[in-house]
Amino acid sequence: MYVYLNNKIVPASDAKVSVFDHGFLYGDGIYETMRVYDGVVFMLDEHIERLYRSASLIGLAIPKKISDIKISIYETLKANSLTNAYVRLTISRGYGPIGLDPELCKEPTFVVMTNEFTGYPKSYYEEGIKLTIASVRRNLREALNPQIKSLNFLNNILAKIEAKQADAYEAIMLNAEGHLTEGTISNIFFVKNGILCTPSVECGILDGITRAMVIDLALKNGLEVKEGIFTPEELYTASEVFITNTTMEVMPARRADKIDKTEFKVGEISKLLLKKYRQEVNGYVKEKKAEDPSLWE
Ligand code: PMP
Repeated sequence: MYVYLNNKIVPASDAKVSVFDHGFLYGDGIYETMRVYDGVVFMLDEHIERLYRSASLIGLAIPKKISDIKISIYETLKANSLTNAYVRLTISRGYGPIGLDPELCKEPTFVVMTNEFTGYPKSYYEEGIKLTIASVRRNLREALNPQIKSLNFLNNILAKIEAKQADAYEAIMLNAEGHLTEGTISNIFFVKNGILCTPSVECGILDGITRAMVIDLALKNGLEVKEGIFTPEELYTASEVFITNTTMEVMPARRADKIDKTEFKVGEISKLLLKKYRQEVNGYVKEKKAEDPSLWE
């Protein structure tokens, strides 16, 4: 396996970062996860745009041009002969002496890692996954804005630990006011009285690229969508619940914990949106291949 580190492709065993790297010392950095379908990085422009937004929110100057970032991703995929994969792009503040001052680091560390995408068990989509509500609250927007896709992931890891303890696949976090926000690595949607509901950005979430696509697809298919402020009780009384992210796409939930007997059906709206999402992916892949055939030669 090969990794892109700073300016070159190296074998994974040589892809080493210093213990003085501020990503390691302080979680000072940002990242993106992308999915590759049939050799095409899905929504690449949107992921790069969000990477730049995260960088700007932490005052980090990305050491590469957009076109070079794209090349580094495709070179890494090529080096690993991967066409169905996930890609993780990480940029940390870089190597520097101990101390919080970002100026201690002269050059950000830039890493692209990729691996085969083996998929999730079919049962996750057919039966739905189990959710729990974490007791740990989502970071305050005013403290560490969840719109920064940062390496500082302890908030989510604490919630993930709770999910595992509850034998759930994903934990949904509430904000300081007790309103729904998002999962540890996903956005949440639910259906209530036929309306597709999802917490608004103001609740303190990462505005997922999949989330935006799902909202768009729902509207295009005649559904009413409400981005708003919701309580856990509204989730418990929903007819359908699903979570979204780049690798999961649209993954239905079977049950939310901490409320007895709440069982959600893998409902028609979840199924429809997963189907439409996958159609969108296929269309995107075809379009990109037609635009630039040289990429897949
Ligand atoms: N929220 C969080 C906290 C995440 O880490 C992710 C995964 N990137 C998402 C939501 C979903 O975002 P996307 O659809 O862009 O993968």
